[in-house]
Amino acid sequence: MKKPILYIVIPCYNEEEVLPITSFQFLKKIEELIYKGLVDEKSRILFVNDASSDGTWKIIKNLVDTNKYYLGISQSKNRGHQNAVLAGLMEAKNWADITISIDCDGQDDIDAMNQMVEEYLNGCEIVYGVRNKRDTDTFFKKFTAEGFYKLLNAMGVEVIYNHADYRLVSSRVLKEFENFKEVNIFLRGMFPLVGFKSTSVYYERHERIAGRSHYPISKMLALAFDGITSLSIKPIRFITEMGIFISLLSFIGVLWSIIMHLIGRGVVGWASTVCIICFIGGVQLVSIGVIGEYIGKIYLEVKARPRYIISERIGGQQDKEDDVKET
Ligand code: UDP
Ligand code: MG
Repeated sequence: MKKPILYIVIPCYNEEEVLPITSFQFLKKIEELIYKGLVDEKSRILFVNDASSDGTWKIIKNLVDTNKYYLGISQSKNRGHQNAVLAGLMEAKNWADITISIDCDGQDDIDAMNQMVEEYLNGCEIVYGVRNKRDTDTFFKKFTAEGFYKLLNAMGVEVIYNHADYRLVSSRVLKEFENFKEVNIFLRGMFPLVGFKSTSVYYERHERIAGRSHYPISKMLALAFDGITSLSIKPIRFITEMGIFISLLSFIGVLWSIIMHLIGRGVVGWASTVCIICFIGGVQLVSIGVIGEYIGKIYLEVKARPRYIISERIGGQQDKEDDVKET
């Protein structure tokens, strides 16, 4: 069997502190995989600069100049982690047979890549990297992250528990994935929808080598909310169910007040009336808010704006020349 060409896709946003360390680890890994005969010599490491405001792009440029295994693309503006990964995957799919997306902060164990590639060679088209322990995370991170997966599952979004965005995806899957045109993207919930044979490999998650997380609680909440509203309509159903339930309750209330009136005890305090009005008002506001969220999503989807714009490409000149010669 022909050896697959692997592209390691790495989103980078203000990572000047870690990149000099982890870029070297990625290089060692790709050389090891090539040496072991698991992947083709044409495999590459593709950095996606998500419009960093520090020296990240400069570091990437230097790396590309010094070693042919490094490639880089840069986004025209910061669009967030998910879009950066997508940009890298879509770029890589034309050159690669398989891609592995991984963060550049050294938290995910790169040694799991060997097993991922082996699973691909055994016939899997998607291999999810799943962390089996969260010992290195703070209690808060662990708690919010686990709550996040539980909430998503409860809302009917199919996600692999404790899998973030460290995964192997074949270019065959990516070519199908290209037809998922939505603008609100939540990759880990979307790949299971593509189908194909998949499996998981387990690894231990380390601490960030340097720098700090770009996922504060506000971004985590935004990601959870996006994950739910872009992949599930359960919240809308829940509102309908709540509406029916409350209508039933108020029907009983009306019945009760009529009976009280008929038996001559019709003194109903205004307090209860005010409470009911407030409660219903609250429910309505929440409902309108959730519906508005979906309408907002429809608005964005209908516009179908590009999900990423690559402003610069570096490296790979040699590969392209080779290709021209071959054809
Ligand atoms: N990242 C990005 N764009 C952003 C924020 C983050 O490309 O707007 C990258 C970042 O460089 C890292 C990955 O996404 O490689 C994950 O971010 P981070 O480590 O901050 O998140 P955490 O691991 O804490 O969830
Ligand atoms: Mg991280």
